[in-house]
Amino acid sequence: MRTNQVDVRKCKICKEKFKPRFSSLQATCLNPDCIIEYAKQVNEKAQKSEMKRRKSELITLAEWKKKLQAVFNKFIRTRDAHKPCISCGKPLKGKFDAGHFYSVGSTPNLRFNEMNVHGQCVTCNQFRHGNLLAYRDGLINRIGLEAVEQLDVDKTIEKRYTIPEIQALISHYKTKIEHVHPGTNRGDSKTPKAKKSTAKK
Ligand SMILES: [Zn+2]
Ligand SMILES: [Zn+2]
Repeated sequence: MRTNQVDVRKCKICKEKFKPRFSSLQATCLNPDCIIEYAKQVNEKAQKSEMKRRKSELITLAEWKKKLQAVFNKFIRTRDAHKPCISCGKPLKGKFDAGHFYSVGSTPNLRFNEMNVHGQCVTCNQFRHGNLLAYRDGLINRIGLEAVEQLDVDKTIEKRYTIPEIQALISHYKTKIEHVHPGTNRGDSKTPKAKKSTAKK
């Protein structure tokens, strides 16, 4: 008959053998030191795995932002393909950048704001630190003073993105890239060959 038979276990702390009294899952002998030490270890383990979980969440958020930045920048370059450099006014040809007026580092909340990012030549963006004085003039020219002042307001409003929001923005900008008509923004009259495809998910 095995009804009363309990398997002997080894205490996880002192390694002594014991017969579980309360539950077959009892992990330690009944020595209070062992009980307390074991509880402490369980607690530490839980904290560690919670920290790990949070850390991996942060990493994925950063990775999602990176992905969004790539799609967003591509949208900006598509939108501004036939416009001049926002700051020096030279025609954009070949490789050019999506230049932030308020930088990602100083103003992360405007990182994905379309009004804050415009096609900019590599010289202005990378070798003239964004050529910001001229950028402001160019910006006022392109989007109007009111919109620039709105940016000054928006930059003070904190914006935190969740992963689902970022994912939604990624598909939003992918769609926008497909449907963008370069040059239809203010200040450019070039008519694009509208390639209205049925590319819809
Ligand atoms: Zn023990
Ligand atoms: Zn330039």
